[in-house]
Amino acid sequence: MAASLYGPDEAQPALWVYLEHEEGVLERVSLELLSKSRALADAAGWRVAGLLLGHAVDPLVEQAFAWGADEVWVADHPLLEPFRVETHTAVAFQAILQGRPSVFLCGATPNGRDLAGRLAVRLRTGLTADCTDLRLDLEQGGVLIGEVTGFGGGIVALITMPRHRPQMATVRPGVFPLSSPQPGRTGVVIPLEVNLRPEELRTRVVERVVGRGVDLTQAPVLVVGGRGIHGRFDLLQELAALLGGEVGATRPPVDEGLIGRERQVGQTGVVCRPKVAIVCGASGAFQFVVGIQNAGTVIAVNTDPEAPIFEFADYGVVGDALQVIPALIEALRAERVAV
Ligand SMILES: Cc1cc2nc3c(=O)[nH]c(=O)nc-3n(C[C@H](O)[C@H](O)[C@H](O)COP(=O)(O)OP(=O)(O)OC[C@H]3O[C@@H](n4cnc5c(N)ncnc54)[C@H](O)[C@@H]3O)c2cc1C
Repeated sequence: MAASLYGPDEAQPALWVYLEHEEGVLERVSLELLSKSRALADAAGWRVAGLLLGHAVDPLVEQAFAWGADEVWVADHPLLEPFRVETHTAVAFQAILQGRPSVFLCGATPNGRDLAGRLAVRLRTGLTADCTDLRLDLEQGGVLIGEVTGFGGGIVALITMPRHRPQMATVRPGVFPLSSPQPGRTGVVIPLEVNLRPEELRTRVVERVVGRGVDLTQAPVLVVGGRGIHGRFDLLQELAALLGGEVGATRPPVDEGLIGRERQVGQTGVVCRPKVAIVCGASGAFQFVVGIQNAGTVIAVNTDPEAPIFEFADYGVVGDALQVIPALIEALRAERVAV
């Protein structure tokens, strides 16, 4: 295997987080990665750094410090806004060679995945994609252990790259909890030189269209429908609206086109962290359960008392979801009227 551009001996004891941002706010996944990195760094005696690329991004530096960064490496240039993988790869590559972090983390978002793959190739290092957990093995000098599910969720694999640096990983939004921010916390700002010339760029942003999707990772309550609700997502929508939540789905109804793919929960969908998840007509396949395993309370409704979802749920209702959910809606409505 080819050697990386720098090795463990030259790497700095630092975890770097690529800071994604939108409209002057750091993306939640970046805050989750800062929170996790802070915890790992505190245990190891390492530093946490944020890599911030964009234009007029100064206000974001404070946010990064508040969420646990000790340093923020900033590249501020008009050509870095909006995100273009070409410009961001070029600048991030130079920054990494300058700072030589041991670990470099990106959110497993469309942009984060795009960037991480290209950087890993240029740096000739490894990239563990879609980690479900991260640990640092200090006895081996700070080897990052990335936990991923493999073979359709049948195994949990621990992946390391002991001889390559930086050790790169992507993590999907919602996997790590947020710590509490510390407003007023400060750190070191390290400005980066940007040598981008418009005439050398091969891509040009002609128009930027932002789709209005749903973000299940933010929902406090999630009402999930599986194959067993026979397409009655209208009922789940009504229940979710009463509870101030969102509707999610297992893969089969999504594959059947009964609900949008952005609402799929699980290994190949979204990993959520709601306070309450009400799971109706889903058997509880491992690939689904990983999407709600961090929910505060799980309530399952299933006609089959042997369904695996009951092993995982905090509360279970053995019954027909198409009867239980309307009854629940009625009870909630009656309660509201009484109040
Ligand atoms: C690589 C890979 C990735 C995958 N990724 C995902 C993923 O991200 N998310 C995901 O969900 N799946 C994923 N899957 C598919 C997963 O393995 C399961 O097939 C899927 O989760 C099953 O969905 P389900 O529980 O809705 O359907 P089923 O397994 O068919 O279960 C339906 C359940 O509904 C119950 N039921 C039937 N009628 C009623 C009723 N009237 N009221 C109440 N209960 C009723 C039944 O008892 C049954 O338990 C993946 C699979 C692979 C191989």
